[in-house]
Amino acid sequence: LMKGLDASAWLWFGVPDAFFVCVKITLFCSQDPMVNITLPDGSQRQFPGPVTVAEVATSIGAGLAKAALGGKVNDRLVDASHTITQDSRLSIVTAKDADGLDLIRHSTAHLLAYAVKELFPDAQVTIGPVIENGFFYDFSFSRSFTPEDLIAIEKRMTELANKDEAVVRRVLPRDEAVAHFKAMGEHYKAEIISSIPAGEDVSLYREGAFEDLCRGPHVPSTGKLKFFKLMKVAGAYWRGDHRNEMLQRIYGTAWASKDDLQQYLTRLEEAEKRDHRKLGRELDLFHIDEHAPGLVFWHPKGWTVWQKVEQYMRAVYQDNGYQEVKGPQIIDKSLWEKTGHWDKYRDNMFTTESEKRDYALKPMNCPGHILIFKQGMKSYRDLPLRYGEFGQCHRNEPTGGLHGIMRVRGFTQDDGHIFCTEDQILAESVNFTTLLQKVYKDFGFTDIIYKVATRPAQRIGSDEIWDKAEHALMESLRASNCDVEIAPGDGAFYGPKIEYTLKDAIGRQWQCGTMQVDFSMAERLDAEYVGEDGARHRPVMLHRAIVGSMERFIGILIEQHAGALPVWLAPIQVIVCNITDSQADYCREIAQKMQKLAGNQGLRVDLDLRNEKITYKIREHSMQKPPYILVAGDKEKAAGTVAVRARGNKDLGVMSVDAFIELIQSDIESKV
Ligand code: ZN
Repeated sequence: LMKGLDASAWLWFGVPDAFFVCVKITLFCSQDPMVNITLPDGSQRQFPGPVTVAEVATSIGAGLAKAALGGKVNDRLVDASHTITQDSRLSIVTAKDADGLDLIRHSTAHLLAYAVKELFPDAQVTIGPVIENGFFYDFSFSRSFTPEDLIAIEKRMTELANKDEAVVRRVLPRDEAVAHFKAMGEHYKAEIISSIPAGEDVSLYREGAFEDLCRGPHVPSTGKLKFFKLMKVAGAYWRGDHRNEMLQRIYGTAWASKDDLQQYLTRLEEAEKRDHRKLGRELDLFHIDEHAPGLVFWHPKGWTVWQKVEQYMRAVYQDNGYQEVKGPQIIDKSLWEKTGHWDKYRDNMFTTESEKRDYALKPMNCPGHILIFKQGMKSYRDLPLRYGEFGQCHRNEPTGGLHGIMRVRGFTQDDGHIFCTEDQILAESVNFTTLLQKVYKDFGFTDIIYKVATRPAQRIGSDEIWDKAEHALMESLRASNCDVEIAPGDGAFYGPKIEYTLKDAIGRQWQCGTMQVDFSMAERLDAEYVGEDGARHRPVMLHRAIVGSMERFIGILIEQHAGALPVWLAPIQVIVCNITDSQADYCREIAQKMQKLAGNQGLRVDLDLRNEKITYKIREHSMQKPPYILVAGDKEKAAGTVAVRARGNKDLGVMSVDAFIELIQSDIESKV
């Protein structure tokens, strides 16, 4: 109250004059802004004046007060200590929220830096952002951190967390902050702050003896950080530039509960077992060579898998009204100028030159399909016109981002373009979604996420045409009974799209399929058709892919099935082994019979007639995960039978060769 009553008022009214003092107090109180807080459930709470997020949490309950990590005030994420001065919407952020998890991860990065500074005072801190499932922090240090260092650092982090030190924010003018970090010998921090515009304030967060530059927000105290683990250390250039100093990047993971952390570590272990790079080597499917970074050398077995996928997809084209086409790999720069690629993505294109003309290896197949479409005048009767291509594309990705056959520089798309009218978008999208679901199911994926990306701020085309296209995409998914997620503003400038993401056996998500409406490219490359009215019109172009990149999809298949590919895709389906030499001819005979089944039904069979113990042979072949191993001894030879072993060491007993053929053909048919 004393603060509200200014000195002049005291003088004017006089201290003893109780009446006037009361009037003044009443006036003051009625002017004092009450703060109304609206909670997520719509309920409101009134506070007599400015209030912190933590105080609001306390007013709701002790449990929430303890769980509060921060708050979201009118959708802005803030510290629990943040003071709210005006009527606001507020949700208390706890570890159960995605934002809460980010707070934990980011604060754990600070805790890591705190521990490193305690153990290695000479290390300089740089940056420590949140990444998927965790965080990292980059340090400048005279030597590499060892695995033993990581153990010691993690132990120190736990000790510091147990001290439950408050995390306190303060704000400094920029120049003062630069001087502050320079004085501490933290040159990287000083450099970062120097790049903030002069005159701006910067915020610092302190916990115990450690203070870091940070926009925040953070958890209120280190005791909120309980479930973390340091994962690995790797080199990283300062500011991502290879001309700069190499820093030490420590990666960590952090979670809201012990269970979550454990589940994540188990998932990681499982993913490691399934790593397609490891399985690709063990199963002799492919390799990547230092002579061609990011490009795949397919070995006979891997190429067999490839061909099976391609043959399947080719049949999909044929059965669904697509005509397969093929464009050239290298196309003149002038075409890429017209499409806009030369301007925007030139650095990501491989180029070459001949007879004073510049060329680029195609990064996408679409323009080629338009050039094919433009040959001969098309009429509305030709639409929808569907072209399909197993189009090989090259993109000059930085080598640092490459990953096995999942992220490569040369890849093949199951690419397709549908030229149609605006009115045909709906029917084409419905058909495409149905088709995609069938294909995914055949490859063993049934859990699909459907996302529609709608109009961005920067776009071409009228609102009317966007309305129509977005409606068509949404409607097509509803017609297929899909749960639709909307990604507002995520569409391309040239049209909205559907993204199809599949979930694999260990819950990871892979966006593979896409259906993109394009109002632009037909215009850019001057494609047209003659309408029913006799006038010329631009066709709408639908870019669509189901598996996306064949290389990546095969990588996903290998990881989904942990290398034990379904019988129809397995490079070797059956291995036939004899027990002694006396069954060699019999084994040759049955192998040949299976390879040469009528109607192009021949099986992929390998024969092992080596003079080795049968247990040894079986053990060795099992490593290659073939669906079936057949064994023939004298008894089987005499009876015209085989002993059948299915993958996973399952003994199916003895059966006639014909019965086995029937069994495996039914596997292939049902795609199990
Ligand atoms: Zn395309």
